[in-house]
Amino acid sequence: MNADLLKQHLKREGATLVGIGDISEALSSEIMHLNRGIAIAVNRNLNRGTVEILSRLQGLAVAWLSVRGFRNLSIPPDSDRQKDKLITKLYKLFCHKTAATCSGLGWVGKNGLVINREYGSKLSWATVLTNAPLLPDRPIRESECGDCDLCVRHCPSGAVTGHHWSVREHGKKLVAYEKCAALKNVRQSIEGKPNCGFCVTVCPYSRNGKKKAANS
Ligand code: SF4
Ligand code: SF4
Repeated sequence: MNADLLKQHLKREGATLVGIGDISEALSSEIMHLNRGIAIAVNRNLNRGTVEILSRLQGLAVAWLSVRGFRNLSIPPDSDRQKDKLITKLYKLFCHKTAATCSGLGWVGKNGLVINREYGSKLSWATVLTNAPLLPDRPIRESECGDCDLCVRHCPSGAVTGHHWSVREHGKKLVAYEKCAALKNVRQSIEGKPNCGFCVTVCPYSRNGKKKAANS
């Protein structure tokens, strides 16, 4: 089933990127029947209120799927993970990084965040799982950080281990988040993790996109 109409619809409504991932390998038994992940990304630099935008886009995707008779499950943006909500239990079932990498929109960088070739880690993510047989995009299965180690060298707490991510070894610890959390003046939260921001701003993909990253 061609997903172009859905992608165009969400982009017209404000999505920066939309991808379709075959997420069969990553599903727990509770949600095994929902084997397509619609990864939706919004550029944090251009948009205020990314949580609201992503929530609205998820609603549009759900409506698109429902009217065609398909089942779906929305996984909210990480920064909207409010405790004590029933929906919080869904978060443990699925990680946005899985939909992003399975749909070819990025890899997990040494900084532990999704890196997109054009936008780096300056994207916020939400996912809609579905049983619609949407044609999946080509996945990214290995890190494209290469020899770069800027986030390793510049991390003020020594939290970035320097390991390369790959689907085959997804259990590797990339970032010691307890070290981030111990930093004083932690002021941002990306993907629900404590964040001082250096490992985003220093990344050549976040600063310049693909073209300049290759030259830096
Ligand atoms: S958020 Fe700050 S402390 Fe944590 S890994 Fe990134 S640079 Fe290091
Ligand atoms: S700074 Fe370099 S090593 Fe770190 S995530 Fe970006 S590209 Fe990868």
